[in-house]
Amino acid sequence: MIPAADIILASLRPQLDAAAILSGDDVDARYGDDLASPGAARPALVLRPRSTADVSVILKTFNAAGLPLTIQGGRTGLSGAARPLAGEAVLSLERMARVEPVDALAATVVAQAGAPLQAVQEAAEAAGFSFGVDIGARGTATVGGNVATNAGGVRVLRYGMFRQQVLGLEAVLADGAVVSSMRGLAKDNSGYDLAQIFVGSEGTLGAVTRVCLRLHPKPVEQAAAFCALPSLEAALALLRLMRGRTGPLLSAFEVILAPLYREMTEASGLDMPVGDAPVHALVEMHGFAPEADRSVFAAALEEALEAGLVTDAVLSRSQREVEAFWRLRDECSRFIFAQGPAVGLDLSLPLARLGDFLVRAEATTRALDPAARLYAFGHLGDGNIHYIALTREHDAVSAALHRLAAEAGGSISAEHGVGLMKKAYLPLMRSPQELAAMRRLKAAFDPNNILNRGRIFDMTPEPG
Ligand code: ZN
Repeated sequence: MIPAADIILASLRPQLDAAAILSGDDVDARYGDDLASPGAARPALVLRPRSTADVSVILKTFNAAGLPLTIQGGRTGLSGAARPLAGEAVLSLERMARVEPVDALAATVVAQAGAPLQAVQEAAEAAGFSFGVDIGARGTATVGGNVATNAGGVRVLRYGMFRQQVLGLEAVLADGAVVSSMRGLAKDNSGYDLAQIFVGSEGTLGAVTRVCLRLHPKPVEQAAAFCALPSLEAALALLRLMRGRTGPLLSAFEVILAPLYREMTEASGLDMPVGDAPVHALVEMHGFAPEADRSVFAAALEEALEAGLVTDAVLSRSQREVEAFWRLRDECSRFIFAQGPAVGLDLSLPLARLGDFLVRAEATTRALDPAARLYAFGHLGDGNIHYIALTREHDAVSAALHRLAAEAGGSISAEHGVGLMKKAYLPLMRSPQELAAMRRLKAAFDPNNILNRGRIFDMTPEPG
């Protein structure tokens, strides 16, 4: 049991309902880990608030005792931020999962932090709208976790990151104070934008409890093409061509680099829409004029085929075919992580330097481990590549590749956050002055350092 946990329990029990407190043997093992850290230790205490007022009571009590908490949404994060460390209790938002009715005039929806992303997407669709962010973990990942990590995913080139969907939010600070900007106004310059400070803060500045989200008009037609390409250069040229010819219609531009497509389709038994090739691209459009938009999209593809940028392509004829293409794309991470321990990099890179990075990354990895297996896929339209090395030289390969990405002018975390696992590499990205400013912000919001302690950075500066 956590030291002083008895005092905490005695204080909280009269203020919360019985299902809000799990301790000892009642704590399910699932609270002990997240997707990045399977099988981590089970926490001694889990708090499951039903309301913002409950969250406030819990944080106030922990803050007074100086005891640490980790905040959990759907535990699908890939940087270890939601894995409880020794002595930490868990604050789970799973019982705060309400999605309010869509406000059709404002084109917004309000959701509690524990609502799964998919519930928000479905509420939007049912009201004739579309939600701008989609990620593979949509059924489990929660809105609060999406805010905390500034989730990205497959449609960023059209609708932006999660940050762009947040019109306002409510959060509880470490001392129990509730800060709220839930007016849902598109324009509001009345002082600091406190809502955006929590986006991407990985639970270090407060516990997000409710969010007001922007909705987009629902496209009347979705079409996608699955393409085989001769090279990465051809994929970059295709991206440029599709952007130029289809403008705002372009909703996704995903790539899978060899040998992932061949190995994955062989292992999964999923249909191969086109044959094997050095690069495959899934290009998608969201249109509002069914016939006209589809022919613009098809003509651009035709032009790419004639120019030799694409060697083979299948254009979807139904929504079911669009979904089948996406199943292939969603299978990428599942296939790779089922192979065993991996170094997973979530990189943003300037497109002009991507080819050079891939060559260097392969040479660097092979020098450290000739038996390593390398896979790359991701959101080329955003310059975001997931680069995965299956290797026994985990630490050396990880350090070398993160350094290479920073040297190439990229980011070591495009959409997965820093958490515990990328913390050592943060000084590659941020100056001592920036890190000092982040620590000052953290100290102002959470002076006793009780919230997600040691995630993103430690409060003591790095030596040297
Ligand atoms: Zn991704």
